[in-house]
Amino acid sequence: MSKPSAIPAVRGFRDILPEECSHWQTLYGFGEVRLPILERSDLFARAVGETTDIVEKEMFSFRDRDKEETPLTLRPEATASVVRAYLESGLVHRERQARLFYTGPMFRRERPQRGRYRQFYQIGAEVLGRDDALADAELLVWLARYFDRVAARGVHIELNSLGDESCRPAYRERLRKFGLAHLEALCGDCHRRLERNPLRLLDCKVPGCREVIERAPVMRDSLCAACTAHFDEVRALLDQEHVPYALNLRLVRGLDYYDRTAFEILAEGEGLGAQNAIGGGGRYDGLVAMLGGPDVPGVGFALGLDRLAMAAPRAADPERGPVALILPLEPAAVAPALQLATRLRDEGLSVGVEPAGRSLKALLGVANRRRARLAVILGPEELAAGRATVRDLVSSVDRRHAFALETPGPELARWIRAEVGA
Ligand code: AMP
Repeated sequence: MSKPSAIPAVRGFRDILPEECSHWQTLYGFGEVRLPILERSDLFARAVGETTDIVEKEMFSFRDRDKEETPLTLRPEATASVVRAYLESGLVHRERQARLFYTGPMFRRERPQRGRYRQFYQIGAEVLGRDDALADAELLVWLARYFDRVAARGVHIELNSLGDESCRPAYRERLRKFGLAHLEALCGDCHRRLERNPLRLLDCKVPGCREVIERAPVMRDSLCAACTAHFDEVRALLDQEHVPYALNLRLVRGLDYYDRTAFEILAEGEGLGAQNAIGGGGRYDGLVAMLGGPDVPGVGFALGLDRLAMAAPRAADPERGPVALILPLEPAAVAPALQLATRLRDEGLSVGVEPAGRSLKALLGVANRRRARLAVILGPEELAAGRATVRDLVSSVDRRHAFALETPGPELARWIRAEVGA
């Protein structure tokens, strides 16, 4: 029989191997809401907007076997799901001011290239029930600090205000008139956008349209007094905390639910090239009501983890390995090795255990690669003497430690703690 051929992953869908997973876990130092990957399509149509690129062109949508059922979509983003969960779970009543975090895969049918995948990963945070500028500024300060901490390269925050329902309609109308006056220079998509949602003109990536849009009126000149005050306060708080940002008066974000503060974070990274947005977010004071809830404001962000790992060497630093890796040198050492690992884990230490059958040199190589602090060697000599050899992998010094093989737990754990401060 011929050897079966390998089945590759679907184009644009990729695997995240353990190494990269562990990079990401270091980013997740906060609470989490776990959301489903599938939602009803109408959730995104309503929240993200019928006329956005995401809903018009990029969603993976299908009908389940039961043709009567409503169409489903692999989530292209998670803010809509967070708000749905906030309403459906009743959190909106129990804890109106909720701070929720999520992480996981998102799906968009974009043209795959480096830094742009059809399944990609985001981590995001949402603050619901707060309409004050402090909430916006706090998130941005946190983000700026975070990018410093992981040494993200060339980070650049762009900021704009999109106005609200009291001032945006007038701006929309100004933009529509401007578009109509430049109709011949705009693409077919933009003609449609003009009819249905002129703000989406600002998303167009066609070079001819971009030239026209450069000259279009900007929202800032139409902001009402309340939106101006909110934006000024966000900026003053960022200045106070020395968070650098640039105003980008043409920044709109590709989703309809944003109002007031909108921001995008750009970075430099190996191979990032044009896909240099590592995150974005903003305020969405109308979204909860749009999804059938009460009038509750919100603000949040999402970071693209695939791209962040390319831009931030320290975010991509592998986590520290186990405190100790137990190395049985021969089959007779396997059972005591497992016993030792279990007892040390019971004592709360992070330890690993390797299979027997390799040379000491090979096993020490494994321990180094796994960034273990100590290697606990169990060979024939150790078994006979009831003693382990513990090698400090940082200083390469061997230390003999006696312990009774029957009851190796607390005593060795104490010793390891004292030695390595674990
Ligand atoms: P958005 O809300 O569309 O601005 O997405 C937030 C972040 O997710 C972006 O700044 C990117 O870092 C990341 N992102 C969005 N789409 C993709 C994609 N197709 N592939 C990889 N990352 C993406």
